Amino acid sequence: MSADVTKLLKKIEADDVQFIRLQFTDVPGMPKNAAIPVAQAEKSLTDGTWFDGSSIEGFTRIEESDMLLKADPASYALLPWRPQEGKVARFMCDVYTYGNKPFEGDPRYVLKKVLADAAKMGYTYNTGPELEFFLFNLVDGKPTTQFADQGCYFDLAPMDKAEDVRREIVLSLKSMGLEIEMSHHEVAASQHEIDFKYADALTTADRVMTYKFAAKAIALRHGLHASFMAKPIAGINGSGMHTHGSLAKNGKNAFYDANAKDGLSDTALYYIGGLLKHAKAITRVANPTINSYKRLVPGYEAPCYISWSTTNRSAQIRIPAARGNSTRAEFRSPDPMCNPYLTFACLLAAGLDGIKNKIMPPDPTNTNIYHLSAKERKKMKIDMLPGSLAESQAELVKDKVICEALGPHILETLATIAEAETDAFRLAVHPWELDRYLATY
Ligand code: GLU
Ligand code: MG
Ligand code: MG
Repeated sequence: MSADVTKLLKKIEADDVQFIRLQFTDVPGMPKNAAIPVAQAEKSLTDGTWFDGSSIEGFTRIEESDMLLKADPASYALLPWRPQEGKVARFMCDVYTYGNKPFEGDPRYVLKKVLADAAKMGYTYNTGPELEFFLFNLVDGKPTTQFADQGCYFDLAPMDKAEDVRREIVLSLKSMGLEIEMSHHEVAASQHEIDFKYADALTTADRVMTYKFAAKAIALRHGLHASFMAKPIAGINGSGMHTHGSLAKNGKNAFYDANAKDGLSDTALYYIGGLLKHAKAITRVANPTINSYKRLVPGYEAPCYISWSTTNRSAQIRIPAARGNSTRAEFRSPDPMCNPYLTFACLLAAGLDGIKNKIMPPDPTNTNIYHLSAKERKKMKIDMLPGSLAESQAELVKDKVICEALGPHILETLATIAEAETDAFRLAVHPWELDRYLATY
């Protein structure tokens, strides 16, 4: 037994752990896990744990279904909402195939691969996402779109009825190692946001999964459903997952240049140029469902035009005012339905392509883009984000850089999902169609 495993087993024993959850993520971004009794920990931490991958969306075909989960020791955390006597711990796992090779359909592996490309260029990649979500009432145990409160941005109780739910989520996440920076009621009724400190992209992607899992588990204990759906209700704000990203070289922020215009280094500009160039393909991954595209419309603080700005929030990429070590680009189009590993992998691959090929972005658009006419946008060469899943899927397959970052296995899965979803949506008859046509025709 290695010294690391011995140390970890000691910690597990000292923490009074009875069960260990081996957690991983499928291609659409759903958390998956299996629990092992603590007596299996030594074997699992030494050799891994076998499972049947054939029933996991986007994993293997039935004829090659044996897969191995290898726990990442750094991700050890106790689940604070589970029993406190005989506790439950969890590890994020890497998925390996029968031949003991990293599995190409494992989103965590895809991100690690692009992070390794960045490391070869001397960069580490940090991300900080802002996930928004709704808390809806459960009726007869089923999620509804009934608001749990009528509060709006930064409201206090009694308008905000979720202070205790947020408090519990925040304390749970804190105990699981996330540094919480702020939590508040968001703009829409029953909408909330909890922000945690940025870290390297792999740690952050793991934390996104932890955040969603914790929010859902704790909401349920309050008789509520935490929904990360991008646009659950038409006509009001949807939920975003704005993602702040920056590169560091030799421990220093590579986006900051005190002597440059706006304090932005060439590296930062090229990174932005890369993001803009690949924005359409990234959308397939960052906005992965039919519903995601209902959020990317004007008027609800979500972007729909491919653009960047040093000031305004109508642009897709915004450079927050902070400089020095905090210099970063906020990519505002992702929504929290996305798979964070794949989304960060795409953003990084796009940024690195910008740096490698010195892709200079156009001048920033510092006016409110929502107020520009189509003619003005055309003159300023401001293109639109894809308007549907089918459109973004078509953009993805045209984009060599993003395709290469994702790899053939993930690409094939994304194509299958996009086609199935688009077909299912086309075949459905919507309430909107009935409202519009039934009485008149
Ligand atoms: N909810 C908005 C969105 O869909 C973002 C609001 C904000 O800026 O926090 O992206
Ligand atoms: Mg927000
Ligand atoms: Mg933001």
